[in-house]
This record gives sequence, C-alpha cells and structure tokens, in this order.
Amino acid sequence: MSQQSPSVDAFPGRRLPYRSISVLKSDVVACKKCSRLVKFRETIPARAAFRGQDYWRKPVFGFGDVKARIVVVGLAPAAHGGNRTGRVFTGDASAKFLMRSLHEAGLANKSASLSRDDGLVLTDCYMTAAVRCAPPGDRPTLEEFRNCSAYLDAELDFLSQSKAIIALGQLAFGSILRWAKNRGARTSGMRFEHGRQYRFDRLPTVYACYHPSPRNTYTGKLTRRMMTALFRRATKQCGVGAGNTSM
Ligand code: SF4
Repeated sequence: MSQQSPSVDAFPGRRLPYRSISVLKSDVVACKKCSRLVKFRETIPARAAFRGQDYWRKPVFGFGDVKARIVVVGLAPAAHGGNRTGRVFTGDASAKFLMRSLHEAGLANKSASLSRDDGLVLTDCYMTAAVRCAPPGDRPTLEEFRNCSAYLDAELDFLSQSKAIIALGQLAFGSILRWAKNRGARTSGMRFEHGRQYRFDRLPTVYACYHPSPRNTYTGKLTRRMMTALFRRATKQCGVGAGNTSM
C-alpha cells in the first residue's frame, strides 16, 4: 500500500488531528471503542470454507493510492471478507463484484481481491469504509457509526488529491454527506439514488452507487455494467485514464 505522508492541510481550513495517514492507521487498527463489534469480530467462528485460516479480527483500514483522485467508500468489512483477510473489500462476494468493475475501469491491476498478499494494486484509486469493524448482519448501529466517524473523516481529509468519492450504498452515502457538511458543504435535499452525482465547492464530487452486496447483485438491482459505467463516468470527469474496454 502506498502510504506516503501527504499534506497535513488537505482541504481548506482543515488541520488534521494525525501527523500522517500511517499514524491514523495504527490508531484505527488498535481501536476497541465499540464493545459489540469488538466481541463480534473477535469471536465469530470461521466459515467451514476458511477453517484453518488465521482471521484478522481487527479493524480494517483503507487500501490503495493515497494520492488517488477516485475514492470508493463502502459500509463496513464483511465478517468473512475484510475481517478474515485484513483488507477492505477483500475475500468476499462484494469484493469480487467490485474488483471486476474497478479493473474494467482501469483502476485496478487485477480483477480479483483475494488476500493481503495477492499483488493487487489500485491506480489513482483508494477504497475504504464508513465503519472499520465487521458488524453482525452487516448493520452497524448509529452509535457505532458515530464512534467510527472521526476515522473516516481524518482518512478522507488525508486524501487531498481526491476528485470523486463513490459511495456504495445509502449508509456510506450518508456518511460522506455528513463529512462534506462538516467541511462546509451544503447538502440539504441530496438523496441517495444510483448514478446521481453531487458537486461541491472545493470538495470532491460525490457519486451514489448501489452497494455490490449479493442482495443487490444476485437480484440484478446492480449489474456489473451499471457499476463499471459509473466508475468510467467518474474517471472521465476526473481526467483519470480511459480504462480497460473489455466487459
Ligand atoms: S467500528 Fe470503528 S470505532 Fe468501533 S471499534 Fe471498530 S474501529 Fe473502533
């Protein structure tokens, strides 16, 4: 993971509470603020298919290029995905779907995200989540969102080159609007609808995208074509390379 120390004055008027993104990462990975999530992440039994594997069982930090223009924000790690592998969007069905689209859009060198040592490299792209610990039923509580929000805010502030934030699902979208509002943006009337985009003064454009969870992808609510098209639109609007053409 490319983690140089970017500018500490990432967005106008913001002084960052962490010296570098690496320091932030250390704090996140050691966090035990949410007792329900700590218990869940540490005790959930390994799935039969992964028995014998050493689950990560800690908070999961963002991954990718810290100078990225495209930032992808999901909800939280999956119990047997990020919580097992230790990398966001890695090792589960959502990751599989997402990564094929990122690869098609020219933002990832591979079309699969399997483990921390699989050689995946994101180019001009960084992915993270609103909540860093796997929640039971993929549903963090409001309090857990609040507890984790300072980490998301600080991480986004470090991504000072970002031009587009793609929020995967309504809850991630809400977290991004909260961040933008706290940075002075007017967000009233903005609603989640796949494909919508919202521009702000001096902040990245926010794109709403359905979450690539099996609930959405198996039912056809979100197709790979839809997701890739949205990534391609965002990359084009940000001036990022044209992307792969194969679907
Ligand atoms: S969800 Fe966030 S705030 Fe809660 S324990 Fe995990 S890292 Fe800490």
